[in-house]
Amino acid sequence: MIQATGYAAKHSFSRLRPLSFERDDPKAGEVEIEILYCGVCHSDIHQVKNEWGNTVYPCMPGHEIVGRVRRAGASVSRHQVGDMVGVGCMIDSCRHCEPCEAGEQNYCEGPNSWLATYNGPMMPAKMSPTGENSYGRDNTYGGYSDVIVVPEDFVLAIPDGLRPEVAAPILCAGVTTYSPLRHWGVKQGDKVGIIGFGGLGDMAAKLARAMGAEVTIFTRSEEKLSEAARLGATAVLEGDQAAFTALKGSFDFILSTVPEKHDLNPFVTLLKRDKTIAVVGALEPLAPVNNQQRAMHRTSIAGSIIGSIAETQEVLDFCAEHGIGPDIELIAIQDINDAYKKVLSGDVRFRYVIDMASLKLEEAA
Ligand SMILES: [Zn+2]
Ligand SMILES: [Zn+2]
Repeated sequence: MIQATGYAAKHSFSRLRPLSFERDDPKAGEVEIEILYCGVCHSDIHQVKNEWGNTVYPCMPGHEIVGRVRRAGASVSRHQVGDMVGVGCMIDSCRHCEPCEAGEQNYCEGPNSWLATYNGPMMPAKMSPTGENSYGRDNTYGGYSDVIVVPEDFVLAIPDGLRPEVAAPILCAGVTTYSPLRHWGVKQGDKVGIIGFGGLGDMAAKLARAMGAEVTIFTRSEEKLSEAARLGATAVLEGDQAAFTALKGSFDFILSTVPEKHDLNPFVTLLKRDKTIAVVGALEPLAPVNNQQRAMHRTSIAGSIIGSIAETQEVLDFCAEHGIGPDIELIAIQDINDAYKKVLSGDVRFRYVIDMASLKLEEAA
């Protein structure tokens, strides 16, 4: 057993507090990682507050993990002790279903779907068609902690060109936006719209620009307009009727990063014929869509969730190659509850990353 410590919430209404717990020693094919940094994702807040109705407590979030391999189980070959590595949203999948065979673990159709880095299987036993839990654990503790043990093929290599603290948010925010940009074939010269300009929107805009697209950011916040321009993107205020009229039927792809219910109707009119809006921010019912607009131009509204392990490695390498990454602010883990409040107020555009060295202060106390 490994003695571990982290921050977790005991109930949907409680703050995150220190929690000591144990992790299993690395088995064959698994690596033990000393966590150095962990990004703060909007999903962490949804999960802690049980806003998706599936939270298992204690809830220890964190799925943007970067650290060093401290120990390797038998037969580990992909990573060595001392390597800088990352762990994103998944730590295992069924490995046998069609999507898993195709390397799309994030769409695992096994009885429990993929095993999330925190909060256990995406499909807990009570939701599973077989009523079982093939992973043998209901809860998993994420990266707001000092150590984690993960199967080596769910561990990513952090390229030399990326600072580890900057790499952290790429493991969720980065791949969540990269995967749909790739899947819907965004290429040089395409016109791409990004709805919402928080942590996901920032990554989406930078990635699409690096793919050679012309990027337009849609935001509700006037203060963010100049920030968008700084990234080399056109910035449009939502509700600017004149701008929307001028942009009608001009986009090759639109990505919505808004983390809640959002009216997509004004954006459907902006798509070219046969093009798609993909929604990655919201995991809940969307506002009703006027299908006439969609039908008239055979457009689609689609969903997408995170990305595969291969895509996660690709986006890390892509960011290193193009010299891009999220804008981050390092915080101590003791500031996590305040950070949540600021994320919820919507006025932070950068990504908070927890410097896990701060956890050692906890142990000393
Ligand atoms: Zn996330
Ligand atoms: Zn599977």
